[in-house]
Amino acid sequence: MSWHRHRKVAIKAAEDGAVSEKTTTATATKRPRPRPRLVRYEELPEYLKDNEFILDHYRCEWPLKDLFLSLFSLHNETFNIWTHLIGFLLFAGLTAASLTGKTDLGGPLSKFYRVSVSLPLMMMIRSTTTTAELNVSSNVVQDSQLMQISHSSPHFEAFLDANTTPKWPWFIFLAGSMTCLICSTISHLLFPHSKRFNFFFWSLDYTGISIMIVSSFFAPIYYAFSCNPHARLLYLTSISVLGILVIITLLSPSLSSPRYRAFRAYLFLAMGFSGVIPAVHALVLHWGTRHIIVAISYEIAMAIFYASGAAFYVKRVPERWSPGKFDIAGHSHQIFHVFVVLGALAHGVATLVAFDLRRGSPTC
Ligand SMILES: [Zn+2]
Repeated sequence: MSWHRHRKVAIKAAEDGAVSEKTTTATATKRPRPRPRLVRYEELPEYLKDNEFILDHYRCEWPLKDLFLSLFSLHNETFNIWTHLIGFLLFAGLTAASLTGKTDLGGPLSKFYRVSVSLPLMMMIRSTTTTAELNVSSNVVQDSQLMQISHSSPHFEAFLDANTTPKWPWFIFLAGSMTCLICSTISHLLFPHSKRFNFFFWSLDYTGISIMIVSSFFAPIYYAFSCNPHARLLYLTSISVLGILVIITLLSPSLSSPRYRAFRAYLFLAMGFSGVIPAVHALVLHWGTRHIIVAISYEIAMAIFYASGAAFYVKRVPERWSPGKFDIAGHSHQIFHVFVVLGALAHGVATLVAFDLRRGSPTC
């Protein structure tokens, strides 16, 4: 009897235990899943170890949902993501302004070159004319600012109607820049998900950079060499082939490792600096026009921005000088991103000057 009683008690206790265990499990499934934690450099798997001077605040193999949400939290990629997301939004705004604007291609960006291109002409106009009627046959017509000043002139209306300079090369540049900036944003957001994601997104990032460089060449070459179709074809074909070769080279898995950081930077720089050849050629062709001087000045500014960005990227300063101090804000990759956006904007202004030069000389 006593044995039976003991057995009953034991069975009851076991059942109660099972019920309470079930209740605990149910509560656990209802409770929100804790956010994965940020980890230190030494806790990372080998494939995520990229910069030993950034010591902490890594997202490591997080689920996709958490990676998407990490757009709004602080970690060591937050500013890498936002610097290029803001750049993308800037270029999207420029595209919208260019699509809706009537005469000012490039919207607010066009203001950057108007003063430097137009100032001497404005002074000349003030001293030589008393009415808005101006002589369209001289080289003065090369300036679009002047076209706006004399907007009331019927000669200029007719001139503008006859002058249909294609705008699509400008939009190719904007599309290429937006592609690069959004690929970079998504790559920095999602790469820590897995080894497969890490490889895929860095390949996407390098492809985006190559597309941006190739598309940057299109508009200035198209406008500056409109009267030299053979040279134009040669330059555009060369940069496209070079771009495809760079993309194929960088799709090799071994080249995306930290060991090849300098090699990647030099490959992109070489691609960008191959633009020196058409630039010098354009300078010779349009020698003496103010537009070419202004355009080349902005291209030099672009080269300085890109070269400075690449130097920070390769040397990994300032984090090298004080490891751990720049984990969240101020490390080299963020500085490199800012220089990339500045370089693209400077190139955008140079392209608008080339467009203006072409618009001012519709015939060869
Ligand atoms: Zn980046």
